[in-house]
Amino acid sequence: MSPFHSKAGKAPKKPFERRSGSGLLQGHRIVSSSPSSRALFVSRSSLERTFHSFLPYWKRKLESVAYWYGMEFERDKQDVVLSVVIPHAYHSSGNFEVSEEETTKIGHKMAEASLVCLAQIHTHPDDVQAHSPYDDSHAVSRRNGFLSLVVVNYGNTPSFDLKDIVVHESWNQEWLILDERAKSGRIRVIDDFVANEASLDQ
Ligand SMILES: [Zn+2]
Repeated sequence: MSPFHSKAGKAPKKPFERRSGSGLLQGHRIVSSSPSSRALFVSRSSLERTFHSFLPYWKRKLESVAYWYGMEFERDKQDVVLSVVIPHAYHSSGNFEVSEEETTKIGHKMAEASLVCLAQIHTHPDDVQAHSPYDDSHAVSRRNGFLSLVVVNYGNTPSFDLKDIVVHESWNQEWLILDERAKSGRIRVIDDFVANEASLDQ
């Protein structure tokens, strides 16, 4: 059984159903449309890679972080994730920290491939869904349209999808939380399609 489906790890109790339309979540405004109106495409395998990186830290009840790098296509307002980056970080039960030196090193490495950081994704304990004040000021970027994703329960979620992820988008120095509709328009998870796998087993 996948550790992500562990009986011991409490799956969040559909925490996001109450989050729709306007309102506040831990001091952050909830919006029903993305302020940037962009769409970020990410493959299921990148999403899985990201969740797998959280596993060793979930076991130790520590927060963890990853970055999604990729390319931006201005004309269509579409962005594509091409690389999952797992930085060296300091991990604790209520926080994480990536040194400036590490961030710079990663930035240079990715720039060689003409990739930019499109999103940060980090884990939180239990059902803590929104940015802390520390998160608000320490995200790797605060440019308009930058995404910061928070995964509850230290990343031990029932499935590798967006359900248990809270999406914050930076806009004019504010972190807005996208409601379910806005989230599904802003981030598109792309599945592989393997038609002949079953026939090989016969
Ligand atoms: Zn946080």
